[in-house]
Amino acid sequence: YSLDIINTSHLPAETKDGFRVTIKANIEMIDEIPSVITYGAEGVGLLRTEFLYLSKKGLPKEEDLYSVYREMVERLNPYPVTIRTLDIGGDKFVSSVPLCEEMNPALGLRAIRLCLREPELFKTQLRAILRASAHGEVKILFPLISGKMEIIEAREILEEAKQELKQKNHPFDENIQVGIMIEVPTAVMMADVLAKEVDFFSIGTNDLIQYSLAIDRVNERVAHLYEPLHPAILRMLQKTVDAAHAHGIEVAVCGEMAGEPMYVPVLLGMGVDEFSMNAIVVPRIKKMIRGISQEKCKELFNELLEESTAIAIRRRLLKFLSDYY
Ligand code: PEP
Ligand code: MG
Repeated sequence: YSLDIINTSHLPAETKDGFRVTIKANIEMIDEIPSVITYGAEGVGLLRTEFLYLSKKGLPKEEDLYSVYREMVERLNPYPVTIRTLDIGGDKFVSSVPLCEEMNPALGLRAIRLCLREPELFKTQLRAILRASAHGEVKILFPLISGKMEIIEAREILEEAKQELKQKNHPFDENIQVGIMIEVPTAVMMADVLAKEVDFFSIGTNDLIQYSLAIDRVNERVAHLYEPLHPAILRMLQKTVDAAHAHGIEVAVCGEMAGEPMYVPVLLGMGVDEFSMNAIVVPRIKKMIRGISQEKCKELFNELLEESTAIAIRRRLLKFLSDYY
């Protein structure tokens, strides 16, 4: 980075016509906190929590989890930290939780499904997250939600965790916000229903693209078919954003798409409220946002929706980028 871009990285991410978005960082570990601050992110939009479950010595205890979450929350205060509950299985393995071999791990007992099947494992993490919420703003994010029942069940377990903490006189934020990852196609189709059940959405484009296009995100043999600009993907993103806004909740994008400069006008055009990405790309993305008007991005997005192939969409987008940047 040049000094110029670092110097401006603490300015708000606001388009030329005054549309303000929030830019946050995706992190996994405490060591990454200085970079969140240095690069000008306004908090953590996705804390991936699998890291603390890597030890072969067994599952982490509530106290171990709490002390790490608490330190993160305190060091980032007053910025919020969105903590995603355990998202193991699929492409993410940890040594402390033995998973069965499955023919299709991405479609198997992973993420929220595993947590609902192992409520004690889940509740231990939820208590730790809740206790951290006494030290700064924390939001809870459930991964791989595919329908309303999973939200109801997860909320029931969250409620139990709250009651247990009350009995022990542990303080926590009673009004902690609860959101879901939108990364399964059925969640997109049901977004209007799900929006009534939660405080925010966070779109996981990595998995949403994998599941929608039936492209294994880690299989190099099909990597050329992995296409964020597939017209179906753009429609799904738009449907999600519109459903959220119709119900008065905000939408973040925390998949890799949010940190890719080329997609900035696309996400701005559909009205995404928050982008969360690797901290290192924050200054660049902010600079792009500050250099364009949302009105132009909306026009672009409407044009892109008229196209029926990814190739045509990409061509239009590249033309737009060369015209405006
Ligand atoms: C995603 O699926 O887009 C996402 C942000 O989560 P992860 O990459 O951790 O699955
Ligand atoms: Mg995911």
